Amino acid sequence: MPELPEVEVTARALRQAISGCVFQGFRHSGKRLRHAFPRAALSRLICMPVLSISRRAKYVLLEFEPGWVAIHLGMSGSIEQATVASQALGLHDHVLLQFGSPAGVPRALVFNDPRRFGSWQWIDRSQTQTLELGALLGDASSGIEPFDPRFNGQWMAESARGRRTGIKQWLMSGSAVVGVGNIYACEALFESGIHPLRKASAISRTRYDRLAQAVKRILQAAIDSGGSTIQNFVGLNGEAGRYGQMHCVYGREGQPCLRCSRPIRRLVIGQRSTFFCHGCQR
Ligand SMILES: [Zn+2]
Repeated sequence: MPELPEVEVTARALRQAISGCVFQGFRHSGKRLRHAFPRAALSRLICMPVLSISRRAKYVLLEFEPGWVAIHLGMSGSIEQATVASQALGLHDHVLLQFGSPAGVPRALVFNDPRRFGSWQWIDRSQTQTLELGALLGDASSGIEPFDPRFNGQWMAESARGRRTGIKQWLMSGSAVVGVGNIYACEALFESGIHPLRKASAISRTRYDRLAQAVKRILQAAIDSGGSTIQNFVGLNGEAGRYGQMHCVYGREGQPCLRCSRPIRRLVIGQRSTFFCHGCQR
């Protein structure tokens, strides 16, 4: 499943591919994604330039003068550069976008999503006068970005006050910090020595300092390694990229802990596989 680093890498690749380009048209498979496809809004954007490409939580945002196209990769979505000549949608391709570049070279992007949990939404600029973009996107977007300077141990400790949920679920809920998905939550909790089931409200400020540091370091490392895999294609294939080679606990059930050699255990928390070391994490 694409997590924050993969989405950031996708946004960076899109920036390289379509910055300064003019939107020229689109095709949609007609199949339902998580939300109804914003066909009318996209039609209005034809002939308009892309103003910016950014990421908010796990959304890629394409900004145009009237507003934003917000793309969520869901469980299995990816955006890749497509051959401009072919207008046909392949198996599991749902959206094809066409652009004209300032140099006159046409560009095309294709959104592929076998499981169709991804989404395309339109956010009109007028809506942002009353609500912040993150709030408009709803789920898991109410917290701050992990690279926001406000995000630190103090922020986490204050947000966790009175939260009786387990730390892992709370971390993944996005209520304090956005974009920390399953793999990175497991890794950050291991790095900071916190048991995934410990109540969020029962963790000391010092341990939250370590956790906040771990979240930032791990996400940055994943972005850096994902960034190095991009050459002539856009986005990842919905996998964790090369970062998979650096996992300390995720996917390592039964293998020795890299710190204490006890076997890594697996638990299911909120229907997600959780990997941890019962010796190192308290
Ligand atoms: Zn251990």
